[in-house]
Amino acid sequence: MALNNKQRESLATHLDTVANKPCQMCGASDWEPDDEFLYLSEDPTQMGRFAVRVITVGCRNCGQAVLFNARALGI
Ligand SMILES: [Zn+2]
Repeated sequence: MALNNKQRESLATHLDTVANKPCQMCGASDWEPDDEFLYLSEDPTQMGRFAVRVITVGCRNCGQAVLFNARALGI
């Protein structure tokens, strides 16, 4: 599921204020948020009940990807 405009704005604000550090792997500050939610589950057969909705933000320089819990961000 894609983020809507309000969710994109909330994520951008979070990345500009709270999570505004350079990449831990290469030191670059060139992040690219994914536009789709990702659902993580320990057991894929239980995906509908126990999945955690996250947003991937990738470093454009080295490719490291970090995950943000959408619920913790209020989106
Ligand atoms: Zn990097």
